[in-house]
Amino acid sequence: MTITVEQTYNNHINGVWKTDSEEKKPSINPAHPREVVGYYTMSESATLHEAVEAAAAAKREWRKMAEPARGDILYKAAAVLEARVEEIAETMTKEMGKTLPEAKGETMRGVQILRYYAGEGMRQNGDVIPSTDKDALMFTNRTPLGVVGVITPWNFPVAIPVWKIAPALVYGNTVVFKPAQEAAVTAAKVVECLAEAGLPEGVLNFVTGSGSVIGRGLAEHPDVNGITFTGSEQVGRGIGQAALARGAKYQLEMGGKNPVIVTEDADLDAAVDAVISGGLKSTGQKCTATSRVIVQSGVYEGFKEKLLTKVKDIKVGDGMNKDSWMGPCASEKQFRSVTSYIETGKQEGAALLCGGETMPEEGYYVTPAVFDNVDPDMTIAREEIFGPVLALMKVETLEEAIETANDTEYGLSASIFTNNIQESLSFMDDIEAGLVRINAESAGVELQAPFGGMKNSSSHSREQGEAAKEFFTSIKTVLVK
Ligand code: NAP
Repeated sequence: MTITVEQTYNNHINGVWKTDSEEKKPSINPAHPREVVGYYTMSESATLHEAVEAAAAAKREWRKMAEPARGDILYKAAAVLEARVEEIAETMTKEMGKTLPEAKGETMRGVQILRYYAGEGMRQNGDVIPSTDKDALMFTNRTPLGVVGVITPWNFPVAIPVWKIAPALVYGNTVVFKPAQEAAVTAAKVVECLAEAGLPEGVLNFVTGSGSVIGRGLAEHPDVNGITFTGSEQVGRGIGQAALARGAKYQLEMGGKNPVIVTEDADLDAAVDAVISGGLKSTGQKCTATSRVIVQSGVYEGFKEKLLTKVKDIKVGDGMNKDSWMGPCASEKQFRSVTSYIETGKQEGAALLCGGETMPEEGYYVTPAVFDNVDPDMTIAREEIFGPVLALMKVETLEEAIETANDTEYGLSASIFTNNIQESLSFMDDIEAGLVRINAESAGVELQAPFGGMKNSSSHSREQGEAAKEFFTSIKTVLVK
């Protein structure tokens, strides 16, 4: 029997929450797969066209609005979101499984991001450049791209949409937002907050549905001037090609296979805590999650023992329960993928030291798994698992550790634990990662700092902070005589 606890969340187009006859799909609670969190629309291409048309029609007026006034709307949206933190965090926990404290933290992060970009509305928008012509005034002026398509994953269903939509809006773009299906209800609530803040009609449009129809359609749409995407590498590459083919600007934030190096000079207790937090919070479903733990041989056994003691103590359960430290995988698809990687790890000869147990009769739970003797060529050392799985790898020297850490197609976050300044500096210099962490867990960065990766983790632009302005605007160089 299906227990329906929530309502239907519709598309939002041209300032109106649509009631339509398109197919509705349930969003499922991964902690209780018979529980429906809400229903969302499986939109058709025609609906996407309607949304893009609305965004295109609104873009001139929105661009002409004074930037501080656009910022004021974001301040209001921050207040509305803040007033709904508890409710939206609960929806997030029920919809994609992360624990309630993490969901609250993420929702508050959304509030802070909105405030940050609201403030951007008051900041300088160009530079005066000295001209060799004494009678000329030369300056730059940033102008919005026009219509921006926002495509997001399910793992940070508030923070990622907000850190894309807020800068897109404050810098004068209109938006068509397509969220991940697994987090469509949480995303709808974020849009409710923005809409309530007083955005003019057509400035923010929200269309749910499948990636292959709505996501792909956005990337290919001739009236969409920029696409910002976060998700898997495979999908991102397709979006990048589609945008490139028609000359649209694009930004891709994709996967990771993030290493943590532990040297013989490390504080082992701090390293253990960081590996657990960086690798297993959010059930390991973070692009920055620690996946490979590369430990120098002299401290390998000691580190392993300390790690196992703590990992075995982790309480797995419904994220709504106070004593759950780790929730379920976000969906059945994710559960199947993680458990299949664990099987592959075993088949390829890695030793499963703990975890990997499932409770399919209850929810999509997988207990945190630690593999020993992981060889750099094994699948679990190469592919992004996006689940609670840690691969321990033994090395002799720092050089070997960095070489092993760099032996991946990805380059998002990388950490080292050492009290040796020379080791820290060598690591900082030689590691191939956009987020370099010294004695700090693999993770994202504060919202005012640039976020992004190298190699196949990113299309090399950066999100967050001032870096967002680079993507969401074009520069006009003006000469006045
Ligand atoms: P995903 O499967 O790539 O989906 C991401 C978004 O793209 C969803 O909205 C999805 O819609 C849509 N999509 C799917 N197929 C598409 C297509 N052919 N064309 C256009 N859009 C399409 O990723 P996910 O499973 O949601 O998220 C996990 C991935 O995100 C991991 O690889 C993780 O590393 C990455 N991630 C990266 C960062 C970062 O900042 N680097 C942050 C978080 C997550 P549907 O929901 O309908 O499939």
